Amino acid sequence: MAYELPKKLIDLVPYEPISGEYEIRLDANESFISVSDEMREQICKVIETADFNRYPDPLCTDLRKIFAQNNGVSFENVAVGNGSDELISILMNSFLEKGDKVIALSPDFSMYGFYCSGAECENIVLKKDENFNINVNTILACAEENGARMIIFSNPCNPTSLGIEADEVRRLIKSTSALVVLDEAYMDFWNESILSEVNDYDNLIVLKTCSKAIGLAAIRLGFAVANETLTRAINAAKSPYNVNTLTQEIGKIILSNNDYIKKSRADIIESKEELYKALCKYSSDDFKILESKTNFIYIKTSRAKEIFEKLRAQSIVVRCFGDGLRITAGTKQENDRLMSCLETIL
Ligand SMILES: *Cc1c(COP(=O)(O)O)cnc(C)c1O
Repeated sequence: MAYELPKKLIDLVPYEPISGEYEIRLDANESFISVSDEMREQICKVIETADFNRYPDPLCTDLRKIFAQNNGVSFENVAVGNGSDELISILMNSFLEKGDKVIALSPDFSMYGFYCSGAECENIVLKKDENFNINVNTILACAEENGARMIIFSNPCNPTSLGIEADEVRRLIKSTSALVVLDEAYMDFWNESILSEVNDYDNLIVLKTCSKAIGLAAIRLGFAVANETLTRAINAAKSPYNVNTLTQEIGKIILSNNDYIKKSRADIIESKEELYKALCKYSSDDFKILESKTNFIYIKTSRAKEIFEKLRAQSIVVRCFGDGLRITAGTKQENDRLMSCLETIL
């Protein structure tokens, strides 16, 4: 007898980010700012004194307190994950039963569909219109019609960089009995967060990540924010030691440093705005630059693949989505190099 993989695993392939050495990486929406020398010293100290033989704090007590305080919620509203990716996986696997229906949008973050099928649930994908907009009523009607148990989307959206205003999101949550998982991974760059309102709803979970605006993609740290009942359920469903000691300690150092967080955000937004302005020079019917609420810019163009390949040949990597390019804002030097290569290509 030979062992056979389960059906749901047979066609899966490991996630492969764009690999290879590139001089300029503008493909993953990471921050171009890393921690300062002073913060590195603080981090070295916690490594020197960490209790490597002991399990981490399963409740991430200190980290949750700091995050809660920074975000105007309380400790009981916060659960912590090994990146928000892990939290998405936990939510799909524990808040849904096999066969439940999940509404996602397209284009949006591709991992929602991935974790949804892992949880053996049915992913209903609503396509946005040609300008990447979608009406909340359309989502509500689809949820109602299908008896959906979960609605999940990013706001502002990766990859389109567009957002749905807070009032519309509130209306969506209030008008459905599905669990709304609102991924605010990029909300640090826009001002329409409803994170601090989680106690007003029995069906809202807001996700936040430290991988983008905070510049901590390496340590894998994300948060789920919800009312106490939902938070308790997330904490009960997660594996006990999901966030390692070093991640907790580094997270505490960085999240306590409000000056660093504020300045990073401001510098990234400034870079994005400069990149946007520079790109607008080439704006045309076939080079449509969307108005970004994030740290990246989305361009609709039939030449996406060609531009992507030509940039890659110059050791600059961005993301290509069919007839779209997603370009993360980089340092001034990186943006300048990008623009001078684009000048030649376009
Ligand atoms: C990058 C990203 C995440 C993943 O965050 P991690 O905390 O690094 O897992 C989640 N959602 C969206 C929309 C993202 O773009």
